[in-house]
Amino acid sequence: MERPRITIFDTTLRDGEQSPGCSMNVQEKLRLAQQLDRLGVDVIEAGFPIASDGDFEAVQSISASLRRPIIAGLARACTGDVDRAWQALQGAARPRIHVFLATSDIHLKYKLRITREKCLEQARDAVRHAKSLCPDVEFSPEDATRTEVAFLCRVVEAAIAAGATTVNIPDTVGYSMPEEYGNLIGTLREKVTGIDKVTISTHCHNDLGLAVANSLAGVQAGARQVECAINGIGERAGNASLEEIVMAMRVRPDRYPYETAVAGEHLYPSSQMLAEITRVPVQPNKAIIGRNAFAHEAGIHQDGMLKNPLTYEIMTPQSVGVPDSRLVLGKHSGRHALALRCEQLGHQFERRELDEIYRRFVILADRIKKVQDSHLLELIQDVASGNVSSDVTGSKGKKFPPAAATLQFPRAVSAAAGPNASDSHPAQVSGSAGQASVSIPFTDHHSEQEDYLWGV
Ligand SMILES: [Zn+2]
Repeated sequence: MERPRITIFDTTLRDGEQSPGCSMNVQEKLRLAQQLDRLGVDVIEAGFPIASDGDFEAVQSISASLRRPIIAGLARACTGDVDRAWQALQGAARPRIHVFLATSDIHLKYKLRITREKCLEQARDAVRHAKSLCPDVEFSPEDATRTEVAFLCRVVEAAIAAGATTVNIPDTVGYSMPEEYGNLIGTLREKVTGIDKVTISTHCHNDLGLAVANSLAGVQAGARQVECAINGIGERAGNASLEEIVMAMRVRPDRYPYETAVAGEHLYPSSQMLAEITRVPVQPNKAIIGRNAFAHEAGIHQDGMLKNPLTYEIMTPQSVGVPDSRLVLGKHSGRHALALRCEQLGHQFERRELDEIYRRFVILADRIKKVQDSHLLELIQDVASGNVSSDVTGSKGKKFPPAAATLQFPRAVSAAAGPNASDSHPAQVSGSAGQASVSIPFTDHHSEQEDYLWGV
């Protein structure tokens, strides 16, 4: 039987970017959008065009450069916002206008100061206007989960009648519980005329740590689009984490028999790129892409892993793009291996750039033997900032540990846990369990961010 296809709507560049410390400039947004395209998300919410010129420009340049994914621009339910969003989306091959309006009594009374009837009318008018410009219109009743259900049904019905093709049900304040959220989706499907003709979407915030659970409950109840963000960034405690949603469905198809078009091997590179751009590190124990997500330190776990990875591993690091650290980068590594590792760290290069990085890499590898990811990232940064090569490989030794230093990470055990691990690289798991975690020789300029980037 064919599994229902779930549309992955990425809002890293909109809701995610709105969160404190995560703002990005136009170039950074474009770079991340290109990575999201490689990742295979279906919809990229590129920004909120009326919010600022920078947002407008970002939506415009992403629209102009990506052809495959749908590009969405956010708009409040008013003509000016909708027009501005549409203007920004002009170059898009597949534009979507995303209109939102709060519907809960508390928002109507204190934020918007309008009646329910006015709210209904405003939603209908804005969707109708958006529809007159763009065939693909999404409507979100903000704070849906705290809206009286009967009124929510009326607003959603009005939006569908006015031409919305996707209705998104935001748990804006992260208040819902999984069963409750699933029931709400079920009620809408039961009571709203025309809802079977549109896509129902989830948009769950993580204030109680339930964003992913709520989204999955929504999918089980019939939602076919999930709004989510890389590393789970977003307002306050964040959005549903894209990587967790995708991998929950992939690892447990028995419970969640749904398909997405996401390329798992691009999850980790996407996470790395976002952390690098925003300089907001990921918590080490973050599911799927955290530094410790595949690390095994306890002796009994390591023993089990070496005998058979399935003892403690429900998915392989490779399936989410965590670099295989059995592949040590040294002076004998080829350009292909180098390009691949760069890609896994979230960097794609043109041929000429790669030539320069490779040239410096060989010099460095000659000096320090084993080139770690952190070295590579520094080297990439140096090339990008146009520093002369002596800065990287100079004899001062400021940037890199001396050649004699060997660096070991807890991750090494997990990453060495392939079928031939114990035969081919016994050295990587040498030392007893207690010694597996050896301190990493940071130099003075290493920040917390770089600590995170050591993660493989
Ligand atoms: Zn949100």
